[in-house]
Amino acid sequence: MLNVTLVPVLDDNYAYILESNNQVGVVDAGDAVPVIHKLDELNLTPDVIFNTHHHGDHIAGNDALLEKYDCDIIAPAYETERILNIHHAVKDGDIFNFGDEKATIIHTAGHTTGHVCFWFKKAKVLFSGDTIFAMGCGRLFEGTPKEMFNNFQKFNAMPDETKIYCGHEYTQTNGNFCLTVDANNQDLIDRMKEVDIFRQESQPTIPTTIGQEKKTNIFMRAKTIEEFTHYRSLRDKF
Ligand code: ZN
Ligand code: FE
Repeated sequence: MLNVTLVPVLDDNYAYILESNNQVGVVDAGDAVPVIHKLDELNLTPDVIFNTHHHGDHIAGNDALLEKYDCDIIAPAYETERILNIHHAVKDGDIFNFGDEKATIIHTAGHTTGHVCFWFKKAKVLFSGDTIFAMGCGRLFEGTPKEMFNNFQKFNAMPDETKIYCGHEYTQTNGNFCLTVDANNQDLIDRMKEVDIFRQESQPTIPTTIGQEKKTNIFMRAKTIEEFTHYRSLRDKF
């Protein structure tokens, strides 16, 4: 079993606290303060920090967590220069044991060259960092549309029930963008009504699921690299 607690950090980031059989993990602590606060509240001590990529809004809390707790960092092997103190440098296809669960590492270049996702297959949970967002797709700072399109094909092949915990609360903006290119999609229209209510009440819209993204995320629905690239360039200007 994998228990996931969402922790809002910074302006619109999410860090996550994971528990499985007395093992405790933290995903992408962009700020240690709210994460430590939540760990205290839950009476938990982290054993491991999972980092999806090197951006500050995902790793800035690492140092404070390492100082306070005896924990290891698991992060992309490609990023040993940009993420310090990595204990487990992981590559595509590696498997990391965590409690009763196993995280499969998927290399997902595009947003950054080293970006990885952590896929807990048995628990049907994906930590996607800044690759797939609810109704969206990460910005291509260091990679190509082709790389990101290939990542999305991997997400498309996952079971529909897979829960996606992404790095940001961008759902409402992403959905409004999807509406500009997929205006007659009734699933999208219905979902946005729900999202608007959640956001009015400042509630998180995360997790989403692979199945929900297949129905509403224009980047997930793009059939070709050309189509995907077109949407990504429109999104840059949105
Ligand atoms: Zn990022
Ligand atoms: Fe980010």
